[in-house]
Amino acid sequence: MSNVAIFAAHEGCPQHCSFCNQHVIAGQQKKVCAEDVTAALQIALQNPRHRENQIAFFGGSFTAMEKRDMQELLEATVPFRAQFAGIRISTRPDAVNTDILAFLKQYDVRAIELGAQSMDDTVLALNRRGHTAADVVRAAELIKAEGFELGLQMMTGLYGDSPQKTFATARQLIALQPATVRIYPTVVLEGTELDGLYQAGLFIPQSLEQAVEECAALMPLFEQAGIRIIRMGLHDSEEVKGKRTAGAYHPAFRELCQAKRYFEAASAALEGLPHGSYVLAVGSKYLSQMAGQKKENLRKLQAQGYQVKIIPDAALSAYQVKIVNREQD
Ligand code: SF4
Repeated sequence: MSNVAIFAAHEGCPQHCSFCNQHVIAGQQKKVCAEDVTAALQIALQNPRHRENQIAFFGGSFTAMEKRDMQELLEATVPFRAQFAGIRISTRPDAVNTDILAFLKQYDVRAIELGAQSMDDTVLALNRRGHTAADVVRAAELIKAEGFELGLQMMTGLYGDSPQKTFATARQLIALQPATVRIYPTVVLEGTELDGLYQAGLFIPQSLEQAVEECAALMPLFEQAGIRIIRMGLHDSEEVKGKRTAGAYHPAFRELCQAKRYFEAASAALEGLPHGSYVLAVGSKYLSQMAGQKKENLRKLQAQGYQVKIIPDAALSAYQVKIVNREQD
């Protein structure tokens, strides 16, 4: 399932979080209105698989908007209700209550994603989130109790963050048993408070390598708990590329993490074996992940003394690497 994303940039947000500039992330400056929703959905109907798609309101704090604004956008979806697989929204943990959830149900909202970002109250305060970890727990439990699909979003490398806090956040989010999670490494964008801290030397952003390492290690925690990771890293966009001053950004961030996991799996399989040429098998769908971006994994293994040829084996699942044989040099 994919989304027809409609961005209500910063709508409803009571303040600016330190890292956020939705006008850049969404590439949009003007306030979204009912006509925008209608136009987006009419275009989306041209996709022959539109019935599998959800209408998604992202980019702001949907349930913190004025009720009449929320209603205007939701009413605009009503004529299209039979054509799409419901609605999903993203919002703040402190903007969820039983009245709002009852209101959303009338409009076929099925999934609610909460921007948790961190479960460390110090990190939340430093980044001007305006809510606590307890708000995340309360909202998540309410959303599930009312029968919505729960999604959670977390970030890595925030101001005041640490790998320990990030992994503690992941464990606490997993305990809330969401259906989905999005993981975003912090990107420093022009015009944000975080950029000011970075320019003043008060915030050292994660490098891309650090973020890949951390996020690659987070992935199995969610996967083992049966939680779908539906996004890793900001969407590829010219606006983000143009306004990024620092931080971990790559248009194919998830692929970098997958390749990192394959590199580690291959290194573990080869560990202790004599240097030389080997044939490694991986699942048929995963040949490019094993090779890495621009065959980086193969080059790194070669630098460790292993010349590797990869072949497919349909019996292998994700991140399984099997040594088939050692080739004669
Ligand atoms: S992170 Fe979310 S709540 Fe914070 S300013 Fe951005 S859209 Fe608003």
